[in-house]
Amino acid sequence: MVILIDKGIIGCKLTGMKKRLLIIFICLLSIYIIAQKDLPEILVEAQFYTQLENDYIRCDLCPNLCILKDNQRGICRVRQNIKGKLYSLVYNKVIAINVDPIEKKPLYHFFPGSRVLSIATAGCNLNCIFCQNWTISQATPEEAQTYYLPPASIIEMAKENNCESIAFTYTEPTVFYEYMYDIASLAKKEGIKTVWVTCGYINEEPLKKLCSVIDAANIDLKGFSENFYAEYTSGSLDPVLTTLKIVNREGIHFEITNLIIPGANDDIDMIGSMCDWIINNLGTEHPLHFSRFYPNYKLSNRIPTPIAMLDKAAQTAAEKGIKYVYIGNVENKNEDTYCPNCQKLIVDRQGFKIIENNIIDNHCGFCGYEIIGHF
Ligand code: SF4
Repeated sequence: MVILIDKGIIGCKLTGMKKRLLIIFICLLSIYIIAQKDLPEILVEAQFYTQLENDYIRCDLCPNLCILKDNQRGICRVRQNIKGKLYSLVYNKVIAINVDPIEKKPLYHFFPGSRVLSIATAGCNLNCIFCQNWTISQATPEEAQTYYLPPASIIEMAKENNCESIAFTYTEPTVFYEYMYDIASLAKKEGIKTVWVTCGYINEEPLKKLCSVIDAANIDLKGFSENFYAEYTSGSLDPVLTTLKIVNREGIHFEITNLIIPGANDDIDMIGSMCDWIINNLGTEHPLHFSRFYPNYKLSNRIPTPIAMLDKAAQTAAEKGIKYVYIGNVENKNEDTYCPNCQKLIVDRQGFKIIENNIIDNHCGFCGYEIIGHF
């Protein structure tokens, strides 16, 4: 902004003290105007943290429980201690936005064939060395181009693009909790569904609060051993299992994804134990997606998951009694839904397209068996 101050607002020539006062006034006015202009950039105070001594704080959002001194950011890179208060650095700052088919999340039992507005900010609270989206999940808010999109704009975009739902996805939505929560709350009022696509690494209190506003989730169960989680994700398994139990208890529709990585989490006994745990703790109804790994990030030397391995995992899960088992990231493979009662094809998929849907009011169109999900 350029301000000419030789002539004052009253149109007379100013000298001495009056001129200095006018300069000070205009400088203050400029700062105020710039501050107003920058209002959208004002940081939003985070939820779920504890103030400690000497301006230290502990973030209570996820099991990392980062203890941060003034000016320090958490492991997720997007939450920062500023003078004894915790702030989200990514509220309103979208790093990726797309309209996707809901099947891509993947959610196969949640309004099949519908469109979902998918959004992400930078950041993640894990550091998976096989991450498929590492360029954005491991970025700081400053490292990538972001779009300023307040919650109301996201709702408008969902409506304009005929999206029945909004998904928080691509990176880890838990780390942009405040933004996600506000969008989901607003979406609820507007009759738009919301979907949380997550690694499930979140603490109990924020999770329960989130469950009051979201409609569905896809939760990664990345492996079934603490060793795997420690070596490959920098996190731990136990909190993810707790998340699954809570989401189940809260009655949110959810599906589970297990990415099978050759030589990392592909032991069939471990996959069998995972299925046993799911059945014993969550039941047999929740859809389970085995997903094919492709070399990426720090595991770019590893081979893609052999199809035979995915088949074996799917067969194990089905034999143990899980009713809906799918294979993802492979074209035309285990992508259809069969009625667990009459065995007839009830949702015929081709890639992300729905060719035929024989589910009526959440029941099999042939035998009337109730199918889990929202159709
Ligand atoms: S959300 Fe981020 S800052 Fe908070 S505990 Fe987890 S990693 Fe640390």
